[in-house]
Amino acid sequence: MTTAPEPKPLRARAEINLDALRANVRALRAHAPSAELMAVVKSNAYGHGALPCARAARQAGAGWLGTATPEEALALRAAGDRGRILCWLWTPGGPWAQAIDADIDVSASALWALNEIIAAARTTGRTARVHLKADTGLGRNGCQPADWPELLAAARAAEAEGTVKVTGIWSHFACADEPGHPSIAAQLTCYREALASAERAGLKPEVRHMANSPATLTLPEAHFDLVRPGVSVYGLSPSPEVGVPEDFGLRPVMRLSADLANVKRVSGGHGVSYGHTYTTPGETTLALIPVGYADGIPRHASGTGPVLVAGKWRTVAGRVAMDQFVVDLGGDWAEPGDEAVLFGPGDQGEPTAEDWAHAVGTIGYEIVTRISHRVPRVYVGERGSKE
Ligand SMILES: *Cc1c(COP(=O)(O)O)cnc(C)c1O
Repeated sequence: MTTAPEPKPLRARAEINLDALRANVRALRAHAPSAELMAVVKSNAYGHGALPCARAARQAGAGWLGTATPEEALALRAAGDRGRILCWLWTPGGPWAQAIDADIDVSASALWALNEIIAAARTTGRTARVHLKADTGLGRNGCQPADWPELLAAARAAEAEGTVKVTGIWSHFACADEPGHPSIAAQLTCYREALASAERAGLKPEVRHMANSPATLTLPEAHFDLVRPGVSVYGLSPSPEVGVPEDFGLRPVMRLSADLANVKRVSGGHGVSYGHTYTTPGETTLALIPVGYADGIPRHASGTGPVLVAGKWRTVAGRVAMDQFVVDLGGDWAEPGDEAVLFGPGDQGEPTAEDWAHAVGTIGYEIVTRISHRVPRVYVGERGSKE
């Protein structure tokens, strides 16, 4: 983590604005005032840094943190987080006992998982807190409706023997980022049926939860007891169809920039980067940006990615290489060491992660999440544990 001034200029950096993250969490809580909020911090907080982001989210009132893998959840505990944490992506033989010992809520989508949880609870001598996940139509993880009664009955029996407490019944949307998609209503109906059969089975979950970012922002009837926003915590909109971040009072948290490693005049007809897919149309100026696909810049951005250099948007000229790429300044001049901004909140004239997603044919989620560990994260607005 970097808070003190750097001893020397960094080649590149991802500035992470924790004030913006806290404001985003508050805005999301205001969008779902009757529900608790779980800040999803999987995959290193979508590339923003799990621990500082988790701390900032707690400071802004996140009662829960969510991770995909148990390792991510255990790392939060090891770093001293004391609040509720749910992790949901398990494989057979996973660290159930460690998670139960660390007071982490775990998830079961099938009997095999519940059976491993029960066995681990017996070895630890503690009651496991379990969220049962229903597949209400996503067709990814979760228990199919046909298998649901059996999973509920097994969970209820485990509650009776004291190994398990079912703390959550939950599910996940397939198309909440396309408001009005018919699967949304169908999944809600299926989820309500899953809740009703859990109740008939004698289960009294503490939290019912279904809403990711788009449902948190656009679908109040999906809020239930807890909402699970991820990408919106980092100030990105889940999809252009849902809106732009400002529509919801959100602000992008990551700003990715690099210092120009070289600037030079070249003649017209000069090939640029591997494969010479770009040739200078005339005498011009080329600037070298010292980040490449090893830093998480998509190679698909070759010829398309936007970068703010010397006051204007430029486009990646030729191929993105492992460590660097080139932009054509069209005869403008910049100095080596000048800052090139790949993306940020967008209000200083720079492109946004959404602009990169559009240029590359992906989603903003992937743009920020794939920024690699080679790019130092520089935290702005970091505070102690108390707000
Ligand atoms: C990633 C994830 C979320 C958060 O989704 P966003 O679209 O980023 O808000 C919520 N729930 C589950 C199960 C997830 O995997």
